[in-house]
Amino acid sequence: MECSEISNLIMKYVDGDISEVERKLLNKHKLSCERCNQEFEMMTEMIKCINELPEVSPPYDFEAKVMGKISKQRVRSSMLNMLIGAVGMLAFAYYMIIFVILPFIQDAGIGQMLLGYGRFALDLIGKYIMNILVYLPITIDNLLILRNIMIKDYMHIMLFIAGAVMIFNLGLIRIINLQRE
Ligand SMILES: [Zn+2]
Repeated sequence: MECSEISNLIMKYVDGDISEVERKLLNKHKLSCERCNQEFEMMTEMIKCINELPEVSPPYDFEAKVMGKISKQRVRSSMLNMLIGAVGMLAFAYYMIIFVILPFIQDAGIGQMLLGYGRFALDLIGKYIMNILVYLPITIDNLLILRNIMIKDYMHIMLFIAGAVMIFNLGLIRIINLQRE
């Protein structure tokens, strides 16, 4: 029998996959071939060492620590997302006030502004109800004029700002996602 074939038998022996006939062939060859005998001894010694290695197990609280860290990070990032959402909404409200509500109030006159927003709103609603009841065509005209002003002057600014805020938020969310990876 060739030594290369014996090498195969040694591997089978190590795997515990050797037949009785093959084992006899191996033993017979080992007696007459020093090289294969040495290979056999080396392989069996190596397997014995591997089997004797102590089983490595992570410390008992390893998993709990890892999971704790992960959930802490999740809380932190969801709080950050909420903060970004709140800032976005505040920015939106701020620009609404600056570009839509304040110019409208200034157009309507400083005196009414001094009476306070609440009273002004009530006045406005009352006026509009009166207009609807008495001057329906004028009201429609007013609404159309208001709509035209909105479209001409403010809607572009509003859209631009809303878009900018949205892109800013998307950018921040992207940065957060990149950091999380
Ligand atoms: Zn041999």
